[in-house]
Amino acid sequence: MTRTGSPHSRPVIKSSTYDPEHLPADFIGYVKALQAHAGHEPHAYRLARALQLRVRVGLHNYCLPEAQPDPLIVVQPWYFAWSNDVLRHEMAHVMLWWSGLESHILALYGPEAGWTVIERLCQQAVAFLHIPPPMLQDAVQRHGVSAQAVLHLQKQSGASLSTALRRLIYDTPDAQRAGFLTSGAYIRAVAQCNLILPFGWLDRVPEPLIRFPTTSRVTTVRLHARGLVGVWAE
Ligand SMILES: [Zn+2]
Repeated sequence: MTRTGSPHSRPVIKSSTYDPEHLPADFIGYVKALQAHAGHEPHAYRLARALQLRVRVGLHNYCLPEAQPDPLIVVQPWYFAWSNDVLRHEMAHVMLWWSGLESHILALYGPEAGWTVIERLCQQAVAFLHIPPPMLQDAVQRHGVSAQAVLHLQKQSGASLSTALRRLIYDTPDAQRAGFLTSGAYIRAVAQCNLILPFGWLDRVPEPLIRFPTTSRVTTVRLHARGLVGVWAE
C-alpha cells in the first residue's frame, strides 16, 4: 500500500517506556474493541461504513487516515463495495493509525523496518476482521481449540482455511497454540503462538503426527486424500 500524511501526528505512548513486545497484543486488542463498537460486522464494506470510513475508487489501493472529515480508503474498482481482504487490509492501516501505535512503531524501528512491521500487523489483522470474536467463541465452544474448530470457522466465515487457522492460533497472544496445513507430503501453512512446531513451512513431512511428543495435545482433520489440518494446543 501507499499513503501520505504525517505518521507522527498522534503520539500516544512515550517511546522510552513502551515495550515493543506488547505491540501485536495491543493492536489486536484495539481492533477487537473497534469490532465490538461496530457490532462485530464481518462484512468488510459494511464494517467500513459502520466505522465512518469513506471508501472511494481509484487507481491504487491506499488509505488516508488523516483525511477530513473522515478517513479515506481508496481501492481499485474490483475491490469496491463488497467484502474482501484488500479493503480489510486498508481498514487495518486506519485502525493502526487511530491506535497511536503506528507513529510509535516508526519512532522505534525507523521508516524502513517500521513499515515492514506495520504491513505485517495489518496483514495479521485481516484474519481478525474476517472472523469477529463471537464467531471464534462459538467455534471454540463447539469444538475446543482444535482442527475441527478451524474447519467450522472456514465454513461460517467463507475465509480461506489458512486465514481460519491463523485466526484461531493467534486469537489469544499468551496462549500456547500452533497449527499447520498440509498438501500431500508437504507443509503448506504454519501458525505458531508460543509453541514451536517440529517442522517448518514447505518442509516435506509425510507423517506430521509422529513428529510430536506423544503427550502433545494435537487434533487433526483430514480434508481430502491429500490434505490435513492440525492444531496443537497446550
Ligand atoms: Zn499495507
